[in-house]
Amino acid sequence: MSEQCAALHSLCNRMTRYHFDNWKTAPANGVYIFFEEGEHAHGGDRIVRIGTHETQDRLPGRLSMHFSAGLDMSGSSFRQDICRALLQKQYGPVGVEKWEAGEFDYGRETAIISEVTEYIRKKMSFVVFEITDARRDMESKLISTVSSCEECKPSAVWLGRFSPKKDIAESGLWQVEGLYKPLTNEDLSVLERSGLIMSSGQ
Ligand SMILES: [Zn+2]
Repeated sequence: MSEQCAALHSLCNRMTRYHFDNWKTAPANGVYIFFEEGEHAHGGDRIVRIGTHETQDRLPGRLSMHFSAGLDMSGSSFRQDICRALLQKQYGPVGVEKWEAGEFDYGRETAIISEVTEYIRKKMSFVVFEITDARRDMESKLISTVSSCEECKPSAVWLGRFSPKKDIAESGLWQVEGLYKPLTNEDLSVLERSGLIMSSGQ
């Protein structure tokens, strides 16, 4: 078991949780960590996605792309990957191929996008580590730590198992991994200070 991953989950499960109803109250800068209904690890909710934003003060903009109901999903690979998994579950690989090729008519396109929107809005929640610089570095370490953890495996019914992307289906994370350095104990201390100061109500 990864002790760093257990400590990270324990920390996240004690932090202020955001979801579709209150995401606009999240901080302006940081690394976000998503959880999904029905997924558990380390005695609490299991981390299913880790992400951040490029431009300063634009975390709300990044989150709005994930929670959006818009027809254009190009700004959120999270929405696109959930869409592919829903399509594969319902129609098999041919459904994904037709959608990727732009062969869905307007009715089918809007129907599947509504499903994606409902899935994210109803089943996803997240926490935020308020980090104002070097966000990408922390994001990479977090992804590395969680994706290499033996205890963080998806449930038998996790939607991501239907993803046509092997990295998603096997890792249990809604993202395609790279090779990164994992979290150190020093990183965990930084996260703990950030996460618990925020959650105590400032
Ligand atoms: Zn783990």
